[in-house]
Amino acid sequence: MTAQDHRPHDLLGVGFGPSNLSLAVALHEMGQPIRAHFLEARAEFAWHPGMLIPGADMQVSFLKDLVSLRNPQSAFSFVSYLHAKGRLSKFINRKTFFPSRVEFTDYLAWVASQMPVCEYDRRVVGIEPVEAAGQIEAVEVISQNAAGEQDCHRARHLVIAPGGRARWPVVFAGLRGDARVIHSNDYRTKALPRLQPGMRIVVLGGGQSAAEIFGDLAGRAEGLRLDLVLRGRAMRPADDSPFVNEVFDPEQTARFHALPKAQRQKSLTTLAATNYAVADGDNIADLYDLLYEQSVQGGDRLTLHSECLPVHAEATAQGLRLVLDGPEGKRELQADMILLATGYDRALDSSVLHGLTRFQTGEPPARDYRLPMVAGFAPAIFVQGYSEATHGLSDTLLSVLALRAEEIARSVVEQVRGGTLLAAE
Ligand SMILES: Cc1cc2nc3c(=O)[nH]c(=O)nc-3n(C[C@H](O)[C@H](O)[C@H](O)COP(=O)(O)OP(=O)(O)OC[C@H]3O[C@@H](n4cnc5c(N)ncnc54)[C@H](O)[C@@H]3O)c2cc1C
Repeated sequence: MTAQDHRPHDLLGVGFGPSNLSLAVALHEMGQPIRAHFLEARAEFAWHPGMLIPGADMQVSFLKDLVSLRNPQSAFSFVSYLHAKGRLSKFINRKTFFPSRVEFTDYLAWVASQMPVCEYDRRVVGIEPVEAAGQIEAVEVISQNAAGEQDCHRARHLVIAPGGRARWPVVFAGLRGDARVIHSNDYRTKALPRLQPGMRIVVLGGGQSAAEIFGDLAGRAEGLRLDLVLRGRAMRPADDSPFVNEVFDPEQTARFHALPKAQRQKSLTTLAATNYAVADGDNIADLYDLLYEQSVQGGDRLTLHSECLPVHAEATAQGLRLVLDGPEGKRELQADMILLATGYDRALDSSVLHGLTRFQTGEPPARDYRLPMVAGFAPAIFVQGYSEATHGLSDTLLSVLALRAEEIARSVVEQVRGGTLLAAE
C-alpha cells in the first residue's frame, strides 16, 4: 500500500454516482477552495449500467437534474447538456419531461467528464481513524483497484454515497454463486450474454425493474419462455399524480424531518406506492398487451404467477427448481435462469465503515446528513441516500439531489473554514 498524497483532502467522497457528482458540481459552483476528491469503484462513470434497457425512460422530470433546483442557470443542467449536444430543439419537439435512461446517463457522464475530481477503479474497502493529541482528527481511506492494488488517502471529512446493495432474498441464499441466478442490477451485463433460444426464465418481482426486464425478454428473438412471479394480486402503477408527487419536493425534507418518528413511519408506509413494488402505467399496459396478444394467438410462452412467494430454490441436474407458494397451494417451476428484480437494500456497508463504528453514536443521520459521532471525533461524515427514515422517500431518488448537495456543500465549507480543520496548504 502506498500513501498517495501526504496532504489530507478537505473532503473525500466514497462513490461517484449522481449524489456525489451533484455535490462535486455544487462545490465547483460555490467557488470555494475546498480540496475535494472522490473515489469510484467503477472503471468509468456509469449509472445503473446493468439496467440500461433501450427504450426505458426516466421516472423523474429532467428538471430534477443534478443542478436545476439549486441553480437554474447552471452550465451543468440537462438543458445545457442538450444545447451542447445540439439536440435542444429536437428534445422540445418531443414534448416530454422524461428523457430515456440512455440519454440521462449520457447527460450524467457529460457532467462527470467536466469534474476532474474523481479517481475511477478505486473501490473503498476500509476507513480508519487518524488520532492526534488524544482526538480523532482525520480519516485514512483505503481503496483497491480491479487488480487488487491498494491505495490510501487521508481526509478531514467524508461524504459517503455508494448507493444501494442488490437485495438477495433468503430463499436464494444457497444459489448465490450460481451464474444462472442474477439480480436485475446485472441484467444487461450478466443475463443477456447467457441467453439461448428457447430458454425458460423466471423473473421475480412486481416493480419497475421486473416489468422492464419481462418486456425486454418477451420481445427478444430467442423465443424465451418467461414466468413472472409477483407477491401481489396484480402489477400496480406508481402513483405520480401531482398532489402525491409533492412529497418529493425538496421543501418537504425539513417538514418530514420535523415529524415525530411514528408519523414519519406512517407517512413512508402510506406513500410507499410512489416508489416501491410499483411500475409505470405504460410498462404495465405493455405487459398486459403481451399477455392479451398471447391469448388471441394461442401459446403459453408467457405466464404470470400472482400472489406467489418463492419458498424454495435449488440447482438440480435439469437446471434450477423453484417452489412457489400461492393461493392454490404449492407449485414448481423449472428454469434455466432466474432473474431477481427484488430491489435494493440501503444500509451503510459495515465492511467499509467498520473502522469507525466504535465512534458512531448509533443515532440516525442529522438534518444536515451528518452521522452523529462521539465527542473527540472531529471529522464530519456526511451520507447521501441513507436517510429515508428521517428525511423522507425522496432520499434514495434524484428528486432532492441538487438541494441536498447544496446543504452538504455549505456544511463542508463551514467545517473546513472552521480554522483548525483547514487542510494544510
Ligand atoms: C434501474 C434504476 C433506475 C432508476 N431510475 C430512477 C429515476 O428515473 N428517477 C429517480 O429519481 N431515481 C431513480 N433510481 C434511483 C437511484 O437510486 C437514483 O437515481 C441514484 O442512482 C442515486 O444516486 P447515488 O449516487 O446515491 O447512488 P448510485 O447511483 O447507486 O451510485 C453509487 C456509486 O457508488 C459506487 N460505489 C459503491 N460502493 C463503492 C465503494 N465501496 N467505493 C467506491 N465506490 C463505490 C458505485 O459504483 C456507484 O457508481 C433508479 C434506480 C435504478 C436501480
